[in-house]
Amino acid sequence: MSGDTIRDLHVAIVGAGIGGLALAMGLEKRGVPYTIYEAAQEFSAVGLSAGIGFGPNGDLALDMLQEGFREKYDKVCVGNMPGEPQDIYYEGMLLEPGLGLNESWRGKTAWGHPDYVRRGVRHSPSTFKSFNYVNSTDINQAHRHAVLEIMTTFISAEKVRFSKTLMEIQQRSDKVILKFADGDVAEASILVGADGIKSTVREHVLRPLYPSQVEPVYANSYCYRGVITTSEAKEIFGDLTDVAKMYVGERLCCVTYLISKGDEFNFLLCALDDKPWELKNAVSQQITQEVMLADFEGPGVDERFRRLLKKARPVKWGFFYHRHTSTYYRDRVVLLGDSAHASLPFQAAGAGQGLEDSLILCNLLATIYHDRDQVAALAPYIRAGFAAYDAIRRPRAQRQLERAHEMSDMLHYRHPETGKRIESIASKLQKNWFEWIWFHDLKADIDAACKKMDAALNK
Ligand SMILES: Cc1cc2nc3c(=O)[nH]c(=O)nc-3n(C[C@H](O)[C@H](O)[C@H](O)COP(=O)(O)OP(=O)(O)OC[C@H]3O[C@@H](n4cnc5c(N)ncnc54)[C@H](O)[C@@H]3O)c2cc1C
Repeated sequence: MSGDTIRDLHVAIVGAGIGGLALAMGLEKRGVPYTIYEAAQEFSAVGLSAGIGFGPNGDLALDMLQEGFREKYDKVCVGNMPGEPQDIYYEGMLLEPGLGLNESWRGKTAWGHPDYVRRGVRHSPSTFKSFNYVNSTDINQAHRHAVLEIMTTFISAEKVRFSKTLMEIQQRSDKVILKFADGDVAEASILVGADGIKSTVREHVLRPLYPSQVEPVYANSYCYRGVITTSEAKEIFGDLTDVAKMYVGERLCCVTYLISKGDEFNFLLCALDDKPWELKNAVSQQITQEVMLADFEGPGVDERFRRLLKKARPVKWGFFYHRHTSTYYRDRVVLLGDSAHASLPFQAAGAGQGLEDSLILCNLLATIYHDRDQVAALAPYIRAGFAAYDAIRRPRAQRQLERAHEMSDMLHYRHPETGKRIESIASKLQKNWFEWIWFHDLKADIDAACKKMDAALNK
C-alpha cells in the first residue's frame, strides 16, 4: 500500500467463510484490489450445520455479486422430494407421540410462498475428491463445502493467504495494520472482518464504545445434529422425510430436510437450556451419549426422535447470537456476516444476510474506486461509505436476528401469541413472516447506500 488516495484502495478481508468469499467474489468481478487472510490452512467450513440453503434474497445477492454463480449453484441443490411441492419451506408437525398425523389440521401447517423454491445444497463426488475427506465428520461438512467450492472458482488464488490468524489491529489515519499469529504484518486501506461469530475484528470495532456487545450471547438453547442416509431416515419416519419438517414441542424441537440430491437426511434436535453455557471459548461441547439421550426422554416425545437422536454425535452445539450491535464499523474497519450479526438458525437466513452485506459493500467500494477522482483523498469516502453501509444493512440484519429469536420461541411453545397451538404457529408463519426477508429489493438497497454516501460527502 503506497498512499491514501482512491487509486491506492486495497481491501483486506479477514475470514474465508461464506461472507468473506462472497465479498471477494464481488470485488473480483468489479476489479477492486483485495487480499483475503484466512486462519485455516485451506478453504474449509468449520460451520455448525452440514447443509445450507439460501432464501430467494440470498440467491439474488449471489447472482448480483457474480454472474454465473447461480448456474453452478443450481447443479448442487436439492429441494423437497420430486413430486412434492417445491414452494413449501417447512411443514410444521408435533414432537409429541403421534406427531399430529391424525389431527384435523394435518396438511394445513406448511409455510412457504408460491414464488419460493426450496433448494438445499448437496455434495458432488468432485467435492469429495477435491477436499480429500477422510472420515464421516468431514463428509458431514461437504454440503457447505460444495457452496464454498463454487465460490472459490471466482476468486484468484494469489489473492488468498492461508494460515493467517489475525491477532491485532492498529488503525492509523491513512491505513490499517494487521498483525498475524505467525508474526507477519500486512497493511490495507480498509479491513473487513468476516471472521465469524467469535470475531477478533468485532472486538476491535465495539470494545471502545460498546464493550458489553462484543461477546455473542448464549441463547439458552443448543442442538444435536447429524446426517444419515435417506433410507435410514425412512426406516424411522417413512415418507415424512420427503418434505422438510419442523416438529415443534415443549422446550424441544426438531428440524429435518433432505440434502445430497435426496440421498441424505440432515437433522437438528434442539433443546432449551436453563443453565449458562459451561465453556468459555467454545460453542460446542463433547458429552456422553447418556446425557444426550436423557434430553429427549419422557412421555412428551415421540419414540421416533429417540431413535433419530441415537444417530447424532454426542456433541452439544450451543446457539449464540449478537443480540445488540450499535455499529458495524469503526473508522477504517467494518464487520460483515456473522461477525456483525450472528443469529439463531431457525429462519435459515443468517448466511443470506452476509451475502447482502457483501453485495452492498462491494458496490459501494466499486463506486468509490471506479467512479470518483482517482487522486482524491480516500479517507472521507471510507467514512461516508461505511456510514451508508451501516445505515442500510444494520436495521435489516438485526431485524432478521430478532425474528429468528422469536421463531425459536414459537417452535419451543414459548411465544405468548401462539402458545402450544401448531395451527397458530403455522398461521403466523404463513402470513408474511418470510416475505420481507426473501423478496427484498436489493437493487434499491445498493442505490440507497450510494446515495447516502454521496449525500454525506456533499454536506
Ligand atoms: C445450525 C445452523 C444452520 C444454519 N443454516 C443456515 C441456512 O440454511 N441458511 C443460511 O443462510 N444460514 C444458515 N446458518 C447461518 C450461517 O451458517 C452463517 O450465517 C454463515 O455461515 C456465516 O458465515 P461467515 O462467513 O460470516 O462466518 P464463518 O462461516 O464463521 O467464517 C469465518 C471464517 O473466518 C475465519 N477466521 C476466524 N477468526 C479468524 C482470525 N482471527 N483470522 C483469520 N481468519 C479467521 C474462520 O476460520 C472462518 O473461515 C445456519 C447456522 C447454524 C448455526
